[in-house]
Amino acid sequence: MKGVAVLGSTGSIGTSTLNVLRRHRDRFRLVGLTAGSNSGLLAEQIAEWQPAFAGLASGAGPACLIEAATRPDVDIVVNAVVGFAGLEATLAALKAGKRVALANKESLVVAGELVVLAARQGGGELVPVDSEHSGVLQCIAGNAAALRKLILTASGGPFRGWEPERVERATVAEALNHPTWRMGSKITVDSATLANKAMEVIEAHHLFGLGCDRVDVVVHPQSIIHALVEFADGSVLGQLGFPSMELPILYALTHPERALDNGVRPFDPVAAGSLTFEPLRPGGFPAFDAGVASGRTGGTAPAAFNAANEVAVGAFLAGKIPFGRIAVVIEAALSKHRAEAAASLDIVRSADRSARAEAERLLG
Ligand code: NAD
Ligand code: MG
Repeated sequence: MKGVAVLGSTGSIGTSTLNVLRRHRDRFRLVGLTAGSNSGLLAEQIAEWQPAFAGLASGAGPACLIEAATRPDVDIVVNAVVGFAGLEATLAALKAGKRVALANKESLVVAGELVVLAARQGGGELVPVDSEHSGVLQCIAGNAAALRKLILTASGGPFRGWEPERVERATVAEALNHPTWRMGSKITVDSATLANKAMEVIEAHHLFGLGCDRVDVVVHPQSIIHALVEFADGSVLGQLGFPSMELPILYALTHPERALDNGVRPFDPVAAGSLTFEPLRPGGFPAFDAGVASGRTGGTAPAAFNAANEVAVGAFLAGKIPFGRIAVVIEAALSKHRAEAAASLDIVRSADRSARAEAERLLG
């Protein structure tokens, strides 16, 4: 029996994780739950699972996340917190030798080198939950040395095919209406700007040790193929399935093994229909371009990108800025940022704080 802590248990990935755990009570014991808010749902979860530890983080900083992530009875930490707030728990869990099933991609974006180092130093193991990276990991299966290039798929978001002027003025409801995935509001907006896909390029760079220039993105509106992996001999493997986060969550818990599970819709190629691919419209996704550029710069640049994005997305969701302004704020905040090596948590924190302040100043 493996002990599991779920950080962000009340969110989209958190509740999907509990669905998976409910089907595998013989393998996993839920010992820790944390949420950032939504104490009502957290109370229901506590009543159902009777975990040894539960914490409500709201306003209290990362202390309860770190406590849940480092308990001796925890083997696997599912980090399903959204945003920069998840970073310290990722680092603490890896330093304590845990497996981290990582949904919180922001951890890798803002401090990829520190996260990889924490895993090496503490003997922890980083396994992606993000569907594209789970797909890559499943395709690699022991052939990491022969990796040539990755192709991540993007649905293109809700505004694929829209005129740029209409996208500029898109409403919150339109941005939250994702064509193929139901997710938390922040990542759904990130999927509309494609900032999410830029974060995934950076995430892949750290997870699989490839330069950002060897991680390509292609639009694949059906979201059936999650990733394509090209090997040294030119052979390409892909990972397929109907969109469901429960499969990558389960795989992150059992990797490199596979569990017997009937929880996801069986794949049916005829029902999946035509699978189509298009390039990203050049210049059509400035938040994507800014994010990938920050990944190429490296150091603290991705932390600044992430911070500006979090502020801008928050302002958009609060109705304070139009959709088109998100990318403008990111670009402007990044242009003010002077990147340095992301050599310590303090340096990353300070880059995060100053880019947030700059983005807020731009928002007036
Ligand atoms: P969500 O908003 O639905 O849930 C976030 C969870 O984190 C909630 O439990 C919330 O209470 C908690 N939380 C928020 N702020 C917190 C804070 N400051 N301190 C502690 N806890 C806090 O988000 P989600 O869609 O589940 O996404 C979670 C993470 O997984 C994100 O990093 C996202 O990019 C990533 N991800 C999500 C999906 C998906 O399908 N939803 C897919 C791939 C990756
Ligand atoms: Mg993804």
